[in-house]
Amino acid sequence: MAFRPELEKLAKKIREVMPNFETKEDALKENAIRVGTLRSAGRKLDKKVCQQLADKLESCSPEEPCGSMACSICQHIRRLIHIPGWQSYIEEHQDEYVAVTLISYVDMVPNKKLLGWDFDAMKERYRKAISRIGFSLPVIGGFEMDYHNYSHAPETSHWMPHFHLLVPNEPEKIERLHHYMLRGKNLHARNGRKNRPFRKDRIDNPVRALSYCISGIWMEHVWFRNEEKEVKKRRNPIRISDERIFAKSLVKLDRMSDGQLTFGVNVQAMRKKISS
Ligand SMILES: [Zn+2]
Repeated sequence: MAFRPELEKLAKKIREVMPNFETKEDALKENAIRVGTLRSAGRKLDKKVCQQLADKLESCSPEEPCGSMACSICQHIRRLIHIPGWQSYIEEHQDEYVAVTLISYVDMVPNKKLLGWDFDAMKERYRKAISRIGFSLPVIGGFEMDYHNYSHAPETSHWMPHFHLLVPNEPEKIERLHHYMLRGKNLHARNGRKNRPFRKDRIDNPVRALSYCISGIWMEHVWFRNEEKEVKKRRNPIRISDERIFAKSLVKLDRMSDGQLTFGVNVQAMRKKISS
C-alpha cells in the first residue's frame, strides 16, 4: 500500500528535521488498534455506531483514504499536508513566533456529554478574541481534547478542550491573550483549584512545534488520590485506557472535520501575500 508520491515526498521533508515522525506503517498499526477497540467496545455497549466506524476505518487505505478524523491513516495524511505547508514559513520566522497552549477550563465537558457537545460556538469565541487582539501575522494551530480520568472519583471525569497554537511573538498582544485566558470565568472554573490556562514556549524545532499543533489522537491524564489523600496527576498523558471511552473519543472525532480541528487567524491574508 502506497501513498501518492507527493505525500511520500512531504514525509521525507518532515523526517529530515524530525526523524521520529510517525511512518505509514505506524499509522496502519494504530488504525488496527482503533478498529479492534471500536469492535470490542461496540459489542459491550451494543452500539452500532462503533461497528460502523470500525468498518469505515478498516476499509481505509493510503490509496483510498476514508477522510475520517478518527482514522490514523487520514490523520497522518492531514499532518503530512499541514506541517510542510507551514514549515518554510515558521522556519523563516522561528524567532518571531512562540508556541502557546490555551486551555478552556470554562468549556470542560463531563464525560457523559462529549458526543452531544457542540464545539463550534467555543471555537468562534476564540477566533473572535484572537482576531480582536490584532496580531499582525497568522496565528495557526489546532484543537484537541484531553480526557481527565479522576480514578478516585470517576463520576467527575471530564474532557478538557484546548488549543495548541503558533502565535507571532508580539509581547503586548501575547499579554492580552494571556489576560483573556485569565478571565474570571476561566480561572475559577474548578472549585478550589487554581487553573493555569495559558502556557508559552519558545520554538526550538519548527516542524516539531507544527506537529504538536496538529495531533491525531486525544489522550488521557490520570488523576489519583495518594496516601496523604492529596489529589495528584500522573506526569505523562497515556492512550485512553478504558476502551469504551477511547471508542467514544473516536466517534466524536469522526463527527468533526479537518476544518473544525484546525485553527487559523489572518491565514487568508498571508496566503494572498505569499502567492502575489
Ligand atoms: Zn481513513
